[in-house]
Amino acid sequence: MCGILGFCAQEWDPALAKFFGLQGFNLQHRGQENFGCTYSNGKKFNHFKDKGLVSQVFTKERREEFNAIRPTIAIGQTRYATAGGTDALSAQPHWVTLLNGFYSAANNGDLPCLQKEVDELEASGTIMLSGNDGEVILKKTLQAAQKSGGDLVAGLKHLMETTPGAYSGCLMTLDQLYIYRDPDGFRPLYYGRWHNTWVFASETCAFHEPGAEIEREVFPGEVIVFDTNGNKTHHQVVEARPERQQCIFEPIYFARPDSQVFANRSEVGSFRYRLGKRLAREKPVEDAVVVAVPDSGRFSAVGYSTELGLPLRELFIRNPYIPRTFQIAGQANREDLVRLKFTVMQSLLERYRRFVIVDDSLVRSTTMRILIKMIRETAEHSGVDPNTIEVHIRLASPPIKACCYYGIDTPETKELAAATKTIEEIAKTVDANSVGYLSLEGLDAVASKYDAPYNFCHACFTGDYPTEYQPRTR
Ligand code: SF4
Repeated sequence: MCGILGFCAQEWDPALAKFFGLQGFNLQHRGQENFGCTYSNGKKFNHFKDKGLVSQVFTKERREEFNAIRPTIAIGQTRYATAGGTDALSAQPHWVTLLNGFYSAANNGDLPCLQKEVDELEASGTIMLSGNDGEVILKKTLQAAQKSGGDLVAGLKHLMETTPGAYSGCLMTLDQLYIYRDPDGFRPLYYGRWHNTWVFASETCAFHEPGAEIEREVFPGEVIVFDTNGNKTHHQVVEARPERQQCIFEPIYFARPDSQVFANRSEVGSFRYRLGKRLAREKPVEDAVVVAVPDSGRFSAVGYSTELGLPLRELFIRNPYIPRTFQIAGQANREDLVRLKFTVMQSLLERYRRFVIVDDSLVRSTTMRILIKMIRETAEHSGVDPNTIEVHIRLASPPIKACCYYGIDTPETKELAAATKTIEEIAKTVDANSVGYLSLEGLDAVASKYDAPYNFCHACFTGDYPTEYQPRTR
């Protein structure tokens, strides 16, 4: 999963570097492994990409270089690797210099037939460096554009007509910026203005700076072209599908609570709150204290406790300097990090005996298993018999039974708790007194307040993939 961002201005403004950096910070939750950027002043370009957070990669020296060429176009990406490595070569943006110009692109999403796409490009003589989705998208687009006299809109049209999958992206030349979204609309993408400059970003939380205004989402199947003379043209190059496939996991887990990832622009936090309320009606626990797994379970926990009139307390203290465990490769690492990331409030265990832990979802169940173990260890340490503590797990989404091919890094299906175990077996594995999931009908009932349920992808709950895909190992 990744975040993309950037701008196209008529003239350089020294405040643009700060705005661009802040956009990156605001999209840091979408990827913490790499940050990269390409920028141009119309005659000259520069680029960098490296491992690390925006603050570690967009260093003082790089900001000075950025300011020195006074760029009027820039694109950037915060990346979490779902395809390809975490090395700088696999990071984005990718760039290519051809006889007729310079091109650079960054994307958010995955191609479910990546290997097939790579094979086809290589068979046609294209040299692939990283083989990741972003490189395929750039090179496939350029190959098609060259056949149409260098027309990049035609290149993107060909991409959308022939490439299933999830890609909200941006492509720049020295003096033009193209933003586009696949015809299924899997991943969000918005554009708007910051003073006199066109800006875009994966989520609306990147528009929170003073002076920034969102114009609208980029429509599925649409290409929007900006140039440094202030022109903007819209091209609906492929008809949007009658049913969108917006990733429902964006509002469940991934997007920031203050973002509005739907066409009707309701905040993600309110979506999660409603999920919690619905979960409470479907899977109530009486006389319990509600606690959230911070941070992604917070809004649903508030909804759950509000609906049932139960007290809401903080049981887990989260160390904000440890990365999201969902985004760390390797199981041993993952277990250590859960213990590093969370500590348990002893005083609550001395006072209460029945807890409902609310989280957004359950993937492998590792985090939950360690948290419950920590609760029982802490209880024992405080002189409380751990067997007197009741722990009920409530999950504000249905069981995840299939892996994602569209850009969310769920593990292979065999590693998913709900793909191989019954709910009772999961409860036993994590040492909980009960486990309760929100139903698919419940999720759709909440989603219907934001968009028609058929406009969301549900493949990770149903295994019913909306496009062609090639099973791949991670
Ligand atoms: Fe989102 Fe799940 Fe569909 Fe992937 S499979 S795009 S995580 S809803």
